[in-house]
Amino acid sequence: MKHFGTATKAPRRLVLLGATGSIGRSCAQVLADTPGRFVVEAVAGGRDGAALARTAIAVGAKFAVIADPAGYADLKEGLSGRDIEIAAGDEALAAAARRPADLVVSAIVGAVGLAPTFAAIEEGRVVALANKETLVCAGAVVMKAAARHGAQLLPLDSEHNAIFQALGGREISEVVRMTITASGGPFRQWSAERIAGATRAEALAHPKWSMGPKISIDSATLMNKGLELIEAHHLFNIAPERLAVVVHPQSIVHGLISFVDGSTIAGLASPDMRTPIAHCLAYPERIASGVAAPDLAALGGLTFEPADLVRFPALRLAIEALTEGQGAPTALNAANEIAVAAFLDGKIGFSALSALVERTLDRMRAAGETRTPTTVAEAMAIHYAARDRASALLA
Ligand code: NAD
Ligand code: MG
Repeated sequence: MKHFGTATKAPRRLVLLGATGSIGRSCAQVLADTPGRFVVEAVAGGRDGAALARTAIAVGAKFAVIADPAGYADLKEGLSGRDIEIAAGDEALAAAARRPADLVVSAIVGAVGLAPTFAAIEEGRVVALANKETLVCAGAVVMKAAARHGAQLLPLDSEHNAIFQALGGREISEVVRMTITASGGPFRQWSAERIAGATRAEALAHPKWSMGPKISIDSATLMNKGLELIEAHHLFNIAPERLAVVVHPQSIVHGLISFVDGSTIAGLASPDMRTPIAHCLAYPERIASGVAAPDLAALGGLTFEPADLVRFPALRLAIEALTEGQGAPTALNAANEIAVAAFLDGKIGFSALSALVERTLDRMRAAGETRTPTTVAEAMAIHYAARDRASALLA
């Protein structure tokens, strides 16, 4: 067999935002498995300077940014004697996002990921988007900016990644239905009464995926699926009524596209984020992710069932916000961030999660505060207003 000049190909330059998180760690694993293929221009994390220092060393980053200045001392100590540039604060975070690079991985959790992701978009970068809150908070603004600056968004979220692959570049007008699957989370078979009393530990124990705490709670309420519908609406420019959710406990089929001719193309993979990460990192090429393809005979069966909007009201709320549009998804996301943080802190019970989101949205609507955001600043104004209202309702 002949070998063509792979050695002469320059490594792809990456920026990893949210490098210390669950997605960030999975990225680092893929990089470790593909030596020489990528170079890391910058890594960024939230608070934990020591963890970011370890990550920067592990991936060979040139620049490490900690968003919270309180983490700077640990970052500095962890990188002392190393030739790695360091910085702290939100401006430094945006500077990391703007570093010359071939691909920016957006994997910060929450709407705080919007500003650095937007900075990368303004530079016309290819952005591998894990941070779905960016599109939920300011989807129309972000997609318009991406088009204006020639930035490409690659879906890193597993469902959207599967859909992107299944779509295969076809026009959205040829699609009659876009379906994202949900594992159903840890409470799929629980009664409403039992779900209402679910503990933090029970909610964090996802049956199929190992993820950060915020998305794990969102997966237990099914809010994550609602956020993903909103994400898909913006990413693929598809009307809400053509989007669907189906519960699929095995998490092997991640997304399906049904075309006008009756064909349905499904994207299958083992439930391991290294697969969509590897797909984005190498796109349009393919690299080994360290994950084996699903063994269907060993699995025995794949099952599907409808999502229950009564036991999982968060999904209903997200669908309502998606249908309503304007600033409703922004407010929904902000209220949910407050609710999830309060639940993780032990301040509210599980059933209060969606109740708080619903009451916040009602107040935002009544106050006329869900007008369509046309800029990032307007989206963030709605975001902070909804956070304030949710916090007030908590107190
Ligand atoms: P995580 O909590 O494990 O990691 C979050 C990362 O964001 C960390 O690196 C943290 O330091 C950083 N961060 C937090 N606050 C920050 C701030 N103010 N400024 C800068 N950085 C900050 O979360 P995760 O599970 O890796 O999820 C990250 C994103 O990817 C989320 O938007 C999530 O919805 C999405 N996502 C995750 C998965 C998954 O399997 N974990 C799958 C699909 C999508
Ligand atoms: Mg997902």
